[in-house]
Amino acid sequence: MAKRDYYEVLGVQKNATKDEIKKAYRKLAVQYHPDKNPGNKEAEEKFKEATSAYEVLGDDEKKAAYDKFGFSGVEGMSGGQDFSQTFRGFEDIFGGDFSNFSSIFDMFTNGGGRRYGGGSSVRQGENLRYDMEISFKDAVFGTKVEIQYTHTEACTSCKGSGAANGSSRTVCPNCKGSGQVRRSQGFFTMASTCLTCGGEGYINEHPCKECGGAGAQKKRQKLAVTIPAGVENGKKVIIPKQGNAGVNGGPAGDLYVFIHVKPHEYFERSDHDLYCAVPISITQAALGAEIRVSTLGGKTIKVKVPPGSQNGKMLRIREEGVPSGGFFGDLYIKLITKVPEKLSRRSRELLEEISRIEGENETPQPIPLSDLS
Ligand SMILES: [Zn+2]
Ligand SMILES: [Zn+2]
Repeated sequence: MAKRDYYEVLGVQKNATKDEIKKAYRKLAVQYHPDKNPGNKEAEEKFKEATSAYEVLGDDEKKAAYDKFGFSGVEGMSGGQDFSQTFRGFEDIFGGDFSNFSSIFDMFTNGGGRRYGGGSSVRQGENLRYDMEISFKDAVFGTKVEIQYTHTEACTSCKGSGAANGSSRTVCPNCKGSGQVRRSQGFFTMASTCLTCGGEGYINEHPCKECGGAGAQKKRQKLAVTIPAGVENGKKVIIPKQGNAGVNGGPAGDLYVFIHVKPHEYFERSDHDLYCAVPISITQAALGAEIRVSTLGGKTIKVKVPPGSQNGKMLRIREEGVPSGGFFGDLYIKLITKVPEKLSRRSRELLEEISRIEGENETPQPIPLSDLS
């Protein structure tokens, strides 16, 4: 994806003051923050984009380089990878609201089972997967579904430490807490997992009786999941911190809700557009008509069939498709001309008369098969 100009991203002028830049970023960060837009990829991208822009424009040195040389001037200086610097300034930007933005860190550093430095065995909990089947209509308009699943939560008795109340874990004497032992073999130094502590770096001499030292317990969990309007089959909604408990005080993993959309009897979807087919009579096709069509949402809309509509003609109804971030896709109606299989005597007479007037073409010119759709 092409990078947008950082000034354009934040919506500020080139001569904007530091304060104006900060204000502009704060506004965008609050608007697109993932906590406020769960599962909304577009908002997440906007949030990341704004953060990247602020990382550069909020820093005098980087801003100067960017003004002079554009993106190439700040390449390697930011690269959008190291956000930690930016976040150190977050408290400053959000003031007292900072606690609301804890999950920002996860967004950029997410990775199940990540180790927080050295031999410390503080780890993020595992992400969990939940498969959810929803109706076509719910996928288009969004819905809220209550789910039940099992995850682990930090043991309340030992607060996740795994050590019995009052005791604490001791650093492994074999590896001195690193979880690894090194052996020299000729020129090489080999590192292998410490067998004394199993690589954890500590020994739990008095395991918690509640959880047997695991620090976590299984729990059946009920959760109301908001499915955003316009979600596509196979996409996932990520619910932060609802996966398994973190290890040794690490953050919980996330819950990934995978969406499976059931097909609809009449409607199909392509991106943000909806498609359906409606039968019309040969006279409606020839003379034109006004027909009533039910939308997916259950609304009845009036649709004009133009005179001389060929079989298979597509009519486009604007903004009756799938909603997405403030706009709607379109609804396409395919007209299917139904030829009557039985005719009353009177209808037959009238059609025969039309046939006489129009003249029968007994040697029609073939048309390419590819023209038929
Ligand atoms: Zn416990
Ligand atoms: Zn050890």
